[in-house]
Amino acid sequence: MNLKNMINGSDMVLIGIGECFQEQFVAVKATEEKNQSLFDEYERKKYIDSLEKDETIDAYNILAKLLEGKNYFVVTLCDDDKIYRSNLRTDRIVAPCGTYSKLQCENVCSEEIYNVDDYIAELEKGEKILCPKCGARLVMNRISNRKYSEEGYLKKWELYMKWLQGTLNRNVVIIELGVGMKYPSVIRWPFEKVAFINQKARFIRVHDYLYQLTEDLKEKGTSIEENPIVFLRNQIV
Ligand SMILES: [Zn+2]
Repeated sequence: MNLKNMINGSDMVLIGIGECFQEQFVAVKATEEKNQSLFDEYERKKYIDSLEKDETIDAYNILAKLLEGKNYFVVTLCDDDKIYRSNLRTDRIVAPCGTYSKLQCENVCSEEIYNVDDYIAELEKGEKILCPKCGARLVMNRISNRKYSEEGYLKKWELYMKWLQGTLNRNVVIIELGVGMKYPSVIRWPFEKVAFINQKARFIRVHDYLYQLTEDLKEKGTSIEENPIVFLRNQIV
C-alpha cells in the first residue's frame, strides 16, 4: 500500500491519532509538594514547550508532508499538545481530551476556560490559582480531571462536524493511527461508521495490536499491524 498515492488520489483525508502518540512524561520529575498537581502539569507543559527533537513530532511532520495541499482534519486523543509543535495545520486539529494550554475550575462551577499563558507569573512562583467565580482551584483543562469542562474544544468540534458532513459522497481516505479502545466513541466507532456509510471511502487502521477490522470494513479497509510512529517513519513522502 502506498499511502502517498492513496492520499493524493483522494478529495479529503480524515486522520485519527490515538493514545499511542501520548507523551508519558517520564523525563519530568513531579514537584516535591503533595497535591500540587497544577504545578506538576505546568512542568509537563514546559517540557513539551522546550522539546527540540522528538520522534512523535517528527512523525507528525511526516504526516503533515503527506497531507500537504490536501483538505484534511485530524482528531486526536492526546492532550499533551505535542501535535501543535508540528507542521500540521492547527485550524484542522481537534483535541477533545483537553490541553495543557488552558485552565478550568476544578468543580466546573462554570464551563469557562482560562489561558494558561495569562497565569505564567503565578505558576512560576508556585502560587495557587483560584477560580474567579467560586474560589476553588483552577486545574488544567484535561479529560483526566474529576470533572472536565468541554468548552475548550467545542468550537473546533463543531467545525470538525461540519467538515465531516462535507465528506458525504466524496472520495475520503480515513486513517486511524494507534487508536485503541480508551475512548472508542471519539474516533474508533465514528470513523468505522463514516467509512461504512460512504461508498467511496477507504479506511486504513494502523495499530500495534488493535489493528483488526470489523467484518463490514474488510473490503474497503486495510489493516496494518505496526507501531504507527514506525509506520509513518517508513512512508515515502
Ligand atoms: Zn469555580
